[in-house]
Amino acid sequence: MSGIVVVFDFDKTIVECDSDNWVIDELGFTDLFNQLLPTMPWNSLMDRMMMELHSHGITIEEIEKVLHRIPIHPRIIPALKSAHALGCDMRIVSDANMFFIETILKHLGIKEYFSEINTNPGYVNEEGRLRILPYHDFNKSPHGCTLCPPNMCKGLIMDRIQDSMSNEDEKRLIYLGDGAGDYCPSLRLKERDFMMPRKNFPVWDLICKNPLLLKAEIHGWSDGEEQEQVLLHLINKIEMDKNSQFISSDCKLQILSVSDALPKVLSVRP
Ligand SMILES: [Mg+2]
Ligand SMILES: [Zn+2]
Repeated sequence: MSGIVVVFDFDKTIVECDSDNWVIDELGFTDLFNQLLPTMPWNSLMDRMMMELHSHGITIEEIEKVLHRIPIHPRIIPALKSAHALGCDMRIVSDANMFFIETILKHLGIKEYFSEINTNPGYVNEEGRLRILPYHDFNKSPHGCTLCPPNMCKGLIMDRIQDSMSNEDEKRLIYLGDGAGDYCPSLRLKERDFMMPRKNFPVWDLICKNPLLLKAEIHGWSDGEEQEQVLLHLINKIEMDKNSQFISSDCKLQILSVSDALPKVLSVRP
């Protein structure tokens, strides 16, 4: 293990579009979705829309087929493969749902790269209808964060991830995201961490309003190609930092003695 934890948002960060919108649009339910959107929270609306799809005779298999053809930038999978091969612990924190994310990751053959998926529960019930529930039960225990939607505070999820890492404080986090919901967790990152916001997307605009509120270094990206370059560059940089720390604490004396000896060796040459 490299001691690097990489946390990915899912929609518009791993896949190119919003998976909720993709399913609704591809199945022809955009008008009903837009009509109901002002009346309820997004997460509750997705559950309602799955009920509508079911009552219109749309099967789980049809929803899966639509999810299988969601667009993804050609450099994303190679980037994930490289980060995994370099020993990064990769996790997903997403306001989509477990059914959509698992269906897509399994289809792409990349599910095993992730050690954890934190998202809204999504499952097929006994009637063959997809149910989508909130990550936090906001009626029983509201999370109280004013930056986040009622069903999910990604900052609280980051707190838990950071708590689970606290015994090994040399571990470093890289967070990638695009949406307004990725702003709260970006404020939780420490000085040694890295925030990778998608340029000119909502999280980028929020960060740009006052970049000093973030403790982490900020490295933007605009598409899958740049995401791959920046991510692999940061992983490399962290590895190099680790090696130079090792040299400075354990090998300084050896390096000094080698460089002291060098001129003498050169001077005896004819
Ligand atoms: Mg997103
Ligand atoms: Zn929050």
